[in-house]
Amino acid sequence: MKGKKIQLTTKILLGLILGIVVGILLNGNQEFANTYIKPFGTLFLNMIKMIIVPLVFSSLIVGAASIGDPKTLGRIGGKTLIYYLATTAFAVSIGLVLAIILKPGNGLAIPIDAVATPAEVPSIIDTLLNMVPNNPLKGLVDGNILQVIVFALFLGIGCTALPDDVSKPFIGFFDSLAEIMYKITAFIMKFAPIGVFGLIVPVVTQYGLDVLKPLSMVIFAVYLGCLIHAVVVYSTAVKVLGKISPIKFFKGISPAAITAFSTTSSSGTLPVTIKSVRENLGVSEKISSFVLPLGATINMDGTALYQGVCALFLAQVYGIDLTIAQMFTIILTATLGSIGTAGVPGAGFIMLTLVLQSVGLPLEGLVLIAGIDRILDMARTSVNVIGDASCAVIVAASENELDYEIANDVAVAAEAA
Ligand code: ASP
Repeated sequence: MKGKKIQLTTKILLGLILGIVVGILLNGNQEFANTYIKPFGTLFLNMIKMIIVPLVFSSLIVGAASIGDPKTLGRIGGKTLIYYLATTAFAVSIGLVLAIILKPGNGLAIPIDAVATPAEVPSIIDTLLNMVPNNPLKGLVDGNILQVIVFALFLGIGCTALPDDVSKPFIGFFDSLAEIMYKITAFIMKFAPIGVFGLIVPVVTQYGLDVLKPLSMVIFAVYLGCLIHAVVVYSTAVKVLGKISPIKFFKGISPAAITAFSTTSSSGTLPVTIKSVRENLGVSEKISSFVLPLGATINMDGTALYQGVCALFLAQVYGIDLTIAQMFTIILTATLGSIGTAGVPGAGFIMLTLVLQSVGLPLEGLVLIAGIDRILDMARTSVNVIGDASCAVIVAASENELDYEIANDVAVAAEAA
């Protein structure tokens, strides 16, 4: 059973590597990649998307109902929010520091007639208000995850305020729905190696390796930053606060990280994240069903880091010296902005507009980033997802909801494989 789990991770990794090789071999033959290979990726994505709303909705109702006491829910929520915001602010800072050291913008010229269309960005207050749905069914139908979370929490808490005989049938129904959704996730994951292959080939075919050269320093800075953030922040957090080995943590979360890398969507990866965190890291259902859907929508460490790098990169390109106060503004905007960034491909790029605007940087520069955004999205989404998982581990550890036998077993399974 455990052996099989590792085997699947290896297969997914092979799909990724093979996809990169095939993408290079196709040598720009975009039509072939899009017609014959991409559909496998799209099929995988569609299957995952299919289960997100019912999975989050049902598991969160059961989770909130099982936490019972609203005080406990508030305590878990408080810890989660503090961890999410603190790590995100730290991530932007890493991005800024790296961009200052590596100076990716030096020696780059922007085409004068390049004009980027500024995208519409919701204000932070609107984002917060919008979390409470006027019409919860519409929220469910539209797949607005924040609204789904809020409504499910209300339902779960409502259950706890009623006698057992009234709430039990309701909770029982959603409990089995949640179980069915996990089962389906397991089926879908069998297809993941092919899905990952199908997603990665068109990207490599489109961008090739040469196109990346001029912007390679930005890519390098973002990837290095993501690596540093994961190794320093998450390793320390899971080791010190979660009391599990960082190596086991990264091994356990790897299926979700790879899926995030190829889908560039933390919401899309959510079912895989939940599965990995529960089955490989031993986080209880109660904690994972609360912390992870919330994280997939509001916690974006990789995205914030990327925004820090890009803002400084563009400042360098335009020869603008940012003051310390402006850098603080970037940290604040990127951190709060991450709450309103949807866990979907390219969302961070739209929010980058907000960050640039906050310190008066020219939006025209976005056109430079646009060309490589997908490549950056892959790294930042993986970090976003790993960050959610690290939070689940430490909150679970602090609430006595972490099964150390499972968490420690990952390495054993790896050795056996
Ligand atoms: N794709 C990212 C995510 O889903 C968001 C972003 O574009 O930065 O987490």
